[in-house]
Amino acid sequence: MGGISITGATKRGFRAYTLSNYKEIPQIQNFTQEQQEDIGIAARIFPFRVNNYVIDELINWDNVPNDPMFRLTFPNKDMLLPPHYKEMKHLLHTAASEEEVQQAIHKIRLTLNPHPAGQLDKNVPELNGKVLEGMQHKYNETVLFFPTQGQTCHTFCTFCFRWAQFTGMKDLKFASREIETLVSYLQEHPEVKDVLFTGGDPMTMSANLLKRYIEPILEADIRTIENIRIGTKSLSYWPQRFVSDKDSEDILSLFSNVTDHNKHMAIMGHFNHPVELTTDTVKEAIKNIRATGAQIRTQSPLIAHINDDPVIWEQMWREQVRLGCIPYYMFMVRNTGANHYFDTPISKAWEIFQEAYQNVSGLARTVRGPSMSTDPGKINVLGTQEINGEKVFVLEFLQGRDCRWVRKPFFAKYSPTASWLTDLEPAFGKEKFFFENTSTI
Ligand SMILES: *Cc1c(COP(=O)(O)O)cnc(C)c1O
Ligand code: SF4
Repeated sequence: MGGISITGATKRGFRAYTLSNYKEIPQIQNFTQEQQEDIGIAARIFPFRVNNYVIDELINWDNVPNDPMFRLTFPNKDMLLPPHYKEMKHLLHTAASEEEVQQAIHKIRLTLNPHPAGQLDKNVPELNGKVLEGMQHKYNETVLFFPTQGQTCHTFCTFCFRWAQFTGMKDLKFASREIETLVSYLQEHPEVKDVLFTGGDPMTMSANLLKRYIEPILEADIRTIENIRIGTKSLSYWPQRFVSDKDSEDILSLFSNVTDHNKHMAIMGHFNHPVELTTDTVKEAIKNIRATGAQIRTQSPLIAHINDDPVIWEQMWREQVRLGCIPYYMFMVRNTGANHYFDTPISKAWEIFQEAYQNVSGLARTVRGPSMSTDPGKINVLGTQEINGEKVFVLEFLQGRDCRWVRKPFFAKYSPTASWLTDLEPAFGKEKFFFENTSTI
C-alpha cells in the first residue's frame, strides 16, 4: 500500500481489523452468525477499519450494539436503506460473482451523495497557472493541505464525510507530496496565516514524514504564516502516538520546533464522546502535547446514535477544559453517506447545543455551533425566533466564501425537520438568501 500504512505504531502493538479479518476480533465471537454477517454487509458499502485500542479500551462490550463507540466504529445494518441491505444480502447469499457484487456496491454508493459540497475538487488553488492537487484554499486565511501519506486513519468513523475516498470511490490523486509548491504558494499569498494539515489523519504518518512536510515551512521563514494546524483523531483512536510509539518523542520535538520558530502549533483534536477522554493514555498524550507549547482545540459533529444528547456534550466540553483543551466547533453531519441514519434536525441540534452550553463554565464557551460546512461557508445556527408572527432560524456565517458575509445574521423559515442548508428556505417571503447571488449551493 506504498506509504499508506500505520508507521511506527505497528511495532508497539497496533493491530487493525478490516472487512478481511474482523471475524477474528475476540469480542465479537459470541455475536450470532447474522450479527457478524451484518457488519460485513454494511462494511461492503462503508469504510471499516478498527484497532485494538478502540476495541479494548473505548467500546463497552456490555452495551453493544447501542454502545456509542461501537456505533462510531462498526458499520451496521441500519446504515443501509432496507432495499440496499436486502439486495446486498441476496447477492452474497446467492453466490453472485464478485463482479456483480462490486457493481451493486458501486450503484448503491452512487445514491449516497459520495462527493458532497465540492469537498476535494473545488477551491483547488493554482500557482503559475498550474493546479495544485492536494490543497484547498477556500477561506482567505487558511490553506488546507492533504499529504499523500496521511490519507488513512487509525480507525474509520462510520459517519465520515470523506468515506468515498476510503472506499476507493475517489482516487487519492488530490493528495499531495509536493511540499515545495505549498511553500511557494504560501510565499505568494501573504493573506494566508494558517496551514492546516488534514486527511484522513496526518498523524498516521511517521514523524520523519511529517517533518518533511512541516520543516520546509519553518525553514522558508514565511513570516505571514502564524499557525500550523494538524487535524487529527489520533488522540481518540491511538493516543499512543504521543506517548509510546517508536517515534513519539520525535513527534513531540517536531511540535516544540514549531513553537520555537515563533509559530503556534494547533492540534485540531477530533473527539466525539467523553469516553474517548477517559483512558490514562489519552490523558498522558494531552499532557505531552501541551508540554511542547502546542494547544489542542476540539471539534466534533453531532451524530445521532452516538452523541445526540446535551449531557454528552456537557461532559465532553467540561472534561476537555479540565484536561487543558479548548472546545472549538460542534458541526452538523454532512449530507452524504448514511446521513439518514446519523443526521439530526437543525432545530434539535440547536437545542442540544444550547442546553449543553448553558451548563458549562465560560471557559468551555469558546465552542461554536451547531455549524454546517456548506459550499458558501460555515453556517452557524444562532437559534430560533419569532419575528412578526413568522417562526425563523437565525443563522450566521462563521466562515464565508466571501469574508464580508461573516457574522452577518440572516434568517430562514423554521422547519422542524430540516437538517441541512439545502432543506432551508429564506424567511419573510424572500426568494433567495443574501449570499445566493454570488454563489451556488
Ligand atoms: C473549517 C475550515 C477551515 C478552518 O476554519 P476555521 O474557522 O479557521 O477553523 C478552513 N478551510 C475549510 C475548507 C474549512 O472547512
Ligand atoms: S478520523 Fe476523521 S477522516 Fe478519519 S474516518 Fe474519522 S472523521 Fe473521517
